Amino acid sequence: MTRHHLTSGGAGSWLAAKVDMAKHPTDRHRFMFADTLYEDADCYRFLLEGLAHLLGRKIDVPAAVDFPDYRVSGDFDIATYAGNPEWRAFLANLRAEAASSLPELTWLVEGRDPWEVFRDRKFLGNSRIDPCSKILKREVLDAWREANADASTDVFCIGIGPHESHRYHRLAERMAAAGWRYEAPLIGTWQGELGPFGYLADAGIERPRLYRKGYIHNNCGGFCIKAGHAHYHNRFAVDPERYEYDAMMERKLAEFIGKPVTMLTDRQGDNVKKPLSLDAFGARLRANPQMSFDYEPGASGCGCMVDFANDNEPMEIAA
Ligand code: SF4
Repeated sequence: MTRHHLTSGGAGSWLAAKVDMAKHPTDRHRFMFADTLYEDADCYRFLLEGLAHLLGRKIDVPAAVDFPDYRVSGDFDIATYAGNPEWRAFLANLRAEAASSLPELTWLVEGRDPWEVFRDRKFLGNSRIDPCSKILKREVLDAWREANADASTDVFCIGIGPHESHRYHRLAERMAAAGWRYEAPLIGTWQGELGPFGYLADAGIERPRLYRKGYIHNNCGGFCIKAGHAHYHNRFAVDPERYEYDAMMERKLAEFIGKPVTMLTDRQGDNVKKPLSLDAFGARLRANPQMSFDYEPGASGCGCMVDFANDNEPMEIAA
């Protein structure tokens, strides 16, 4: 039996793999990572360090400060945007090194980041519809599974914990209908109830820095089209330069598409839902520094890797 652990670089999927490996010590354990090319530098550090620990292997892993900036500096045209070439080259090198030091890891890359997907689709994702994760994660993983896995011998494990078990049940049902077995090793376990951070401390692995900064998940460098006001309020406070970069990208995309598309929406005033740009939200936060939001930092992934709920919705604007 081969057990494939789907990881997005989150702490939950690390603990799920650890629990599952202890439960199935004689099975083959493999790891899959669908890279958006837009993860936090410390997410890549954590992914590699965490897997090396699970496999009982010592490898050289760069610290977050050794990575180049993921952002493109200066003014640029989003029509030809293709990420920061230095960042992309660094990641390509990291993948090549991991292929030799951690051959159990399948590191999949579609080749674009979320902003390129939004531009190419002429559609900025939102809390309900996520072309970024559909194209960069789910379709890439689906294609790999169909080409390489065997339903009679392969099991796929995900890091969903007990508090999100409804998401797992939806997924497992869908995959079972297609003939595949999906499991969530943390559901029904006390390790899942306790969460990953104590286990990481025991293992001597520093939790990813986005958690330390109060982010709720460790995906896409803390940027996310599914995130709400509380998330961006935290980003504005702890990563103001990244917030400004997100706002600039949103602005560039809206100009490129020719519509005032935004990730956030707002009902202030007349209770009618309308777009709220990060520029406008930032101005509101600056004018009201006392604003606060209910927000619980945690160990959850954003879930986009396995959230198929709206995959049949249109994800591009008709020309
Ligand atoms: S974390 Fe958010 S922005 Fe990144 S791929 Fe998932 S849904 Fe898209």
